[in-house]
Amino acid sequence: MFQSIEIPGNRYVLSLDNHVEIVEALTAFCREKQIHAGSITGIGAIGEATFRFLDPATKQYVDKTFDEQMEITNLTGNISEKDGKPYLHVHITASRRDYTCIGGHLLSARVNGACELLVDDFGEVRLGRRFDRETGLNLYAF
Ligand code: FE
Repeated sequence: MFQSIEIPGNRYVLSLDNHVEIVEALTAFCREKQIHAGSITGIGAIGEATFRFLDPATKQYVDKTFDEQMEITNLTGNISEKDGKPYLHVHITASRRDYTCIGGHLLSARVNGACELLVDDFGEVRLGRRFDRETGLNLYAF
């Protein structure tokens, strides 16, 4: 699913295998390395992705799938925990064939080419989540 090396400073360089789903692979990586809190950045190429938009007025999620080849011009996310499981919050910007970009909250994306990530492990830090009624979001629970 992925290959990784640890580099000084509690960081990992990560290369995802072709055709894997990015959020699934990152979640598996966090489990394997027992990362409880951290941050993620990355670039790569994907062949299909589903983004999510939360309408604050209705608190309804609007999901949309894009079935096309795109470059990940930026992937940024964080790692925390909810109910004892890794909780990944990832956003993405991706460029299309015509060089325009689309983006949003990343639900899923399938690698088509390469996906190269840097994961910062915050070590002993624990970051939890709690559901916030006002926003409809799982916010950090400090
Ligand atoms: Fe989000």
